[in-house]
Amino acid sequence: MPSSPEAANKIREKLAAGTLPHVAHGITFAGYGAGRLCSGCDTPILTGEMEYEAETRDRRTIRFHVRCVLLWQMHARQRGGSEPAE
Ligand SMILES: [Zn+2]
Repeated sequence: MPSSPEAANKIREKLAAGTLPHVAHGITFAGYGAGRLCSGCDTPILTGEMEYEAETRDRRTIRFHVRCVLLWQMHARQRGGSEPAE
């Protein structure tokens, strides 16, 4: 599956806006999707795709495609430490 630059942009925007947390308790669930929307790219996670769930500090569950969870973790870590030099 090709990685979508659009997904990366959305995830970066959501991190900047605070819609996605910079810190989570880690992956709480991994399994096959059920057609629910990905918290990263806003497209459904289909039944044939892997879905990863994480819990936020305010006990919300967020879910991602495998490619989106990787993007989220990558960008969240960048923000969590020092500000990225962009
Ligand atoms: Zn996604």
